[in-house]
Amino acid sequence: MSSDSSSSSQQNGSRVAVIGAGPGGYPAAFLAADYGFDVTLIDPRPELGGVCLQEGCIPSKTLLHQARLINEARAAEACGVRFTEPKIDIDQLREHTRLVIERLSGGLASGRKRRKVKRIQGRARFSDARTLSIEPSESAGGEVPEELEFDHAILATGSSAVTLPGMDPEEHSAVWDAADALALPEIPRTLLVVGGGYIGLEMGTVYAALGARVTVVEMTGSLLPGIDPELVKPLRERLEGDGPGAFEEVLLRTRVEGMEPYAHGLEVSLADADGETRSRRFEKVMIAVGRRPNSDDLGLEKIDVEPDEDGFLPVDEQRRLGGHEHLFAIGDVAGEPMLAHRATHEARVAVEAIAGKPTAFDPAAVPAVVFTDPEIAWAGLMEDDARERGIEVSTAIFPWKASGRAVANDRVDGLTKLIVESPTERVMGIGIAGAGAGELIGEAALAIEMGALAKDLARTIHAHPTLSETLMQAADSWYGTLVE
Ligand code: NAD
Repeated sequence: MSSDSSSSSQQNGSRVAVIGAGPGGYPAAFLAADYGFDVTLIDPRPELGGVCLQEGCIPSKTLLHQARLINEARAAEACGVRFTEPKIDIDQLREHTRLVIERLSGGLASGRKRRKVKRIQGRARFSDARTLSIEPSESAGGEVPEELEFDHAILATGSSAVTLPGMDPEEHSAVWDAADALALPEIPRTLLVVGGGYIGLEMGTVYAALGARVTVVEMTGSLLPGIDPELVKPLRERLEGDGPGAFEEVLLRTRVEGMEPYAHGLEVSLADADGETRSRRFEKVMIAVGRRPNSDDLGLEKIDVEPDEDGFLPVDEQRRLGGHEHLFAIGDVAGEPMLAHRATHEARVAVEAIAGKPTAFDPAAVPAVVFTDPEIAWAGLMEDDARERGIEVSTAIFPWKASGRAVANDRVDGLTKLIVESPTERVMGIGIAGAGAGELIGEAALAIEMGALAKDLARTIHAHPTLSETLMQAADSWYGTLVE
């Protein structure tokens, strides 16, 4: 909570409407209330948290945690610890996931009440630049106002899964989107994942651990296109190997041409880069080919705002929307990268701007984590980005096979990569692949945000034996002073 009581008293009475209660919207509403604004939070769902909590980040991490346990138990056999094959009680696992969501939703509900943030369960559209019209959700109880007037509004409407023509989950019960897969309806014997990006690989990892034979098709030439291939390599090797967590097949430069239902699922026609087509049968097909900002049907024409060709809303560095002094947009609807923590940070910026504080969205590093096994995480500029921007960089890689802790963990399939601006020795970016990379990237983000030099990482004493030492060791490698 804010301790800035002078700003609290100043804001009293000024009305802030927040549209969307995901990781952009609810922090915006809570912070605005802490600043003393009169806040209304509008979302069609009965619970707060948006896609991230209800059918995204949190349930997927709950299942990925179990997947990791299963894979580690299987891998322990090679070290002399044998477990029997796990028995998956899918009903209990589903219930466990539901309870995780419920617990966190409950925390948000009490945070909202404590701050006296008003709540409308419905869909909001602009009728003009000071008024929202509200369409109540069917499950909304009590009186829902038809209109809401505001002094400031923050749009945080998020994004939705892109569908492919003829493969709409709404039309085929054997076709899933990520939300369907997270609801754990069953564990299919065979699962085709269309799209080798974040969601496809995370959900493929879950279902492979639960016992499905997972095939992934990716239309480009690499998994996680756009991410440094050196970081992706350990993941690809594991997925294509034959150990715990491996996929049945990874098909690159491959497209799904069409699908026909058969008795137990779908017969899918797959075309490779040479145009060769083949048919394969899968019990379920999960589509994860990207997300699109939710910028349709918001009444934007009433406020003279037009999304760009990808659907993103135009915002400035304080996240003011379309040149309006009192309107803001944050999170997935306002641009890439579509990451919950970026939305939360933008929420802070927008509310500070409303409160008249000097502020801007200007991070040196937005960390990103793909929660596969091994995980892939990065912060700051990757090598190619830096070179494209004309920054003179050189890199150092510390392979985890040289890390005492990684060897002890029997997880040497990782690396820590440092991208350093050569003349200044400033750390521009850090990439980490390996089990636990997602937790290690916090230090990287702090170092980059603080303007650390490679020396700062090299001279900071890191506890032994930990994987965090690999950041220090990568820095020492950069100077050529690594003591092994
Ligand atoms: P993505 O953009 O990460 O990956 C989609 C993939 O599908 C790409 O590799 C693309 O080349 C491929 N593709 C597109 N059309 C295809 C086709 N017809 N056939 C085969 N492959 C095709 O998208 P996503 O995985 O759906 O995730 C959406 C967004 O959600 C991401 O941009 C990410 O920011 C966010 N997200 C983040 C996390 C996380 O932080 N861990 C997890 C899940 C999602």
